[in-house]
Amino acid sequence: KIGLASCSIAAGAAKVHDLLKDLLADDGIHLQRTGCMGLCYCEPQVEVVAPDGRSYLYGNVSTDNVGQIVEEHIKKGEPVEELLVVPPDGASEAGEYIGRQERFLLHNCGNIDPENIESYLDAGGYKGLAKAVAMKPEEVIAEVKSSGLRGRGGAGFPTHQKWTFARDAKGEQKYIICNADEGDPGAFMDRSILESDPHSVLEGMMIAGYAIGASVGYIYIRAEYPLAIRRLKIAIAQAKEHYYLGTNILNSGFDFDIKIREGAGAFVCGEETALIASIEGKRGMPRFRPPFPAVSGLFASPTSINNVETFANVPQILAQGAAAYNVHGTEFSKGTKVFALAGKVNRGGLIEVPMGMSINDIVFAVGGGISTGKAFKAVQTGGPSGGCIPAELADTAVDYESLKEIGAIMGSGGLLIMDEETCMVDVAKFFLTFTREESCGKCTFCRVGTEQMLRILERITEGEGTEEDIDTLEDLGSKIKAGSLCGLGQTVPNPVLTTIKYFRDEYEAHVRDKV
Ligand code: SF4
Repeated sequence: KIGLASCSIAAGAAKVHDLLKDLLADDGIHLQRTGCMGLCYCEPQVEVVAPDGRSYLYGNVSTDNVGQIVEEHIKKGEPVEELLVVPPDGASEAGEYIGRQERFLLHNCGNIDPENIESYLDAGGYKGLAKAVAMKPEEVIAEVKSSGLRGRGGAGFPTHQKWTFARDAKGEQKYIICNADEGDPGAFMDRSILESDPHSVLEGMMIAGYAIGASVGYIYIRAEYPLAIRRLKIAIAQAKEHYYLGTNILNSGFDFDIKIREGAGAFVCGEETALIASIEGKRGMPRFRPPFPAVSGLFASPTSINNVETFANVPQILAQGAAAYNVHGTEFSKGTKVFALAGKVNRGGLIEVPMGMSINDIVFAVGGGISTGKAFKAVQTGGPSGGCIPAELADTAVDYESLKEIGAIMGSGGLLIMDEETCMVDVAKFFLTFTREESCGKCTFCRVGTEQMLRILERITEGEGTEEDIDTLEDLGSKIKAGSLCGLGQTVPNPVLTTIKYFRDEYEAHVRDKV
């Protein structure tokens, strides 16, 4: 198996694949393309699966050393120890990286061929849909309710409630929307899932469509994800060929179609009402709610919107039952969460851990600690809308409630690790620069307030700030949160406010030392 997701391809996996294909051409050995294997820090990766089922995972494979794996391991049965990152018994650092995770949702990622529906079916694909259409829609919603699944886009709203609102809403035509407009800097969870296991998202959308009574689903995906789009298109065509999409699905009388709409790169289009406007061909700007999309959404029809990770969980919940899902996690945050672990960490990549694992365990047990050898300083969660959590609070459990208590948010799953050399004022400035650019301009506080905050931050980092400036940032930040229409404006000040809260001394040092 060779991982061929964007992360691996960027590291040269396509060339390794082509060479491997040539080298194995006459040996009758099956070469399988997969998506992201998760260990993005040692791409490209090749997994050799022996006839007895034992697995050997190689990392940092290149066109220079793949021939050695073929000659010594595949042809002579002698594993190449120096390239092996996970031996069959898992006893290695990378084995620990995988062993500390619970890969409920990612079980197909890095295993199946994302461009082959047979591969998905062999792994149990579309069993959740088959089970769902044999149940009443209300029973499907009840199963999702007992699983405890909450929206993985960031807010953590209970999925069954969203579906119930849309199911109960009046309307001949209802819609499902998959929000794949992943735009947080440093986040790559949704892209990786779509590139590695696209059918799971389609299946989740179909089950949701059946549950709420919708016949059409839209995937709103950013155009900057060409591989994910290509694999989604292949998956949709294959699902139609195999009669999982279309009319009278699995002889149930349920009809469902899925369409793709590519976003043009506006971060605010991740906000659901802006996203709906964009699909309708209008400028993507948030609007007032109510009415909520569940009542009046796409084309003024009842619409349920969930993100990629939420949908990808649903087939497993139906196929294995709610108990298989809610056995993971905490009392109020059930299940697992996929994170994009990045920044100054030894083992960065796509990880899935049970809700409630501490930040320390994620950074050290899974991530292998700080890559620079310096002290761990902070973690940024939730991208530009999230907060910076200092190392002193790193025993905090990563779940919706615990993160909220310390002023951060779960967000969609970006985790950016920082060491002691990182200037937290610079971090705040980086995120505010991003969100200032992305404000749609509708609300005065978000449009003008972020501009003013950024000017103050620039002044401070140029050694021209004052103590009063720090107070003004806090005051303005709280007003922007209160006076903004959508989630973007309401969370924009978070990186600034949390860094002032936990690292005020760094702001004061800029002011005092004029640096
Ligand atoms: Fe636009 Fe910002 Fe207002 Fe949201 S809060 S509607 S992004 S101006």
